Amino acid sequence: MKKLLPTSTAGSLPKPSWLAQPETLWSPWKLQDQELLDGKQDALRLSLQEQVHAGVDIVSDGEQTRQHFVTTFIEHLDGVDFEKRETVRIRDRYDASVPTVVGAVSRQKPVFVEDARFLRQQTRQPIKWALPGPMTMIDTLYDAHYKSREKLAWEFAKILNQEAKELEEAGVDIIQFDEPAFNVFFDEVNDWGIATLERAIEGLKCETAVHICYGYGIKANTDWKKTLGSEWRQYEEIFPRLQKSNIDIVSLECQNSHVPMELIELIRGKKVMVGAIDVATNTIETPGQVADTLRKALQYVDAENLFPCTNCGMAPLPRHVARAKLNALSAGAEIVRKELSHQIPD
Ligand SMILES: [Zn+2]
Repeated sequence: MKKLLPTSTAGSLPKPSWLAQPETLWSPWKLQDQELLDGKQDALRLSLQEQVHAGVDIVSDGEQTRQHFVTTFIEHLDGVDFEKRETVRIRDRYDASVPTVVGAVSRQKPVFVEDARFLRQQTRQPIKWALPGPMTMIDTLYDAHYKSREKLAWEFAKILNQEAKELEEAGVDIIQFDEPAFNVFFDEVNDWGIATLERAIEGLKCETAVHICYGYGIKANTDWKKTLGSEWRQYEEIFPRLQKSNIDIVSLECQNSHVPMELIELIRGKKVMVGAIDVATNTIETPGQVADTLRKALQYVDAENLFPCTNCGMAPLPRHVARAKLNALSAGAEIVRKELSHQIPD
């Protein structure tokens, strides 16, 4: 019997305080050299244990080996100079000093494949691995070489495809691409954003997901959310094209957001990771609140396609808060599972 409503997280989880400064993005490592490598593996094991104890069904590395979900991947590529920095506006929202693309981008060796292999050795549960999506990658760089967002995105898509194929071979069950930029640049998403994502998943046999959210609970994002009005209809701009794409799963922010749930109807047929945990607050959801969100989503997603999830990554949260939120996610999913009278036969 296949389990109904399998739970998972959108990606990052808090790191232990001996590895990196807690509750901080881009937190510097506290260890060095071999100690750092060992420390990252230990943290990955801990993060996995916490997910298992909380009853999470589809587990991940909690992004314990990376400093940031976009930057760490790019650091491993050729063609990007991290010393040469320019200030650009990220997702049309906040200014940041970013590295410069100075030549042709390429991947000389795998970035996360060893980590994925390590995670695979630790568990028999299905595993999901997150990579940044092409559009979100280009949006965190200054491009002095291609001088075309689209061209650079296609180059990154090729590189992501190489990495994804090796992750699949390492035993990853679901490869997820994080594309918060999809919520901002609608015309580009429809012109080439989704097409580059499809290039990134070309030839993969494992399941593929795209995570589209309103960002971590950092100030720049919460300020931006205040400007979006009472109904957030961003998803409406891109769902029709996404529905026609080859991506299997769409991961969304639904808890406490102002996204009208009925928009999910526009991607009917896709599997949907429904964010039922708000990552922008330390308040712990009750299992009943999680169940309510899932029930609302069930009006627009068939039960066998619904994956209860978090709105976004939880890296910036205190560890005990993240743990409690994972417990609430499992408990809420279990309530709804019981309500659905049957399970799907294999
Ligand atoms: Zn997110």
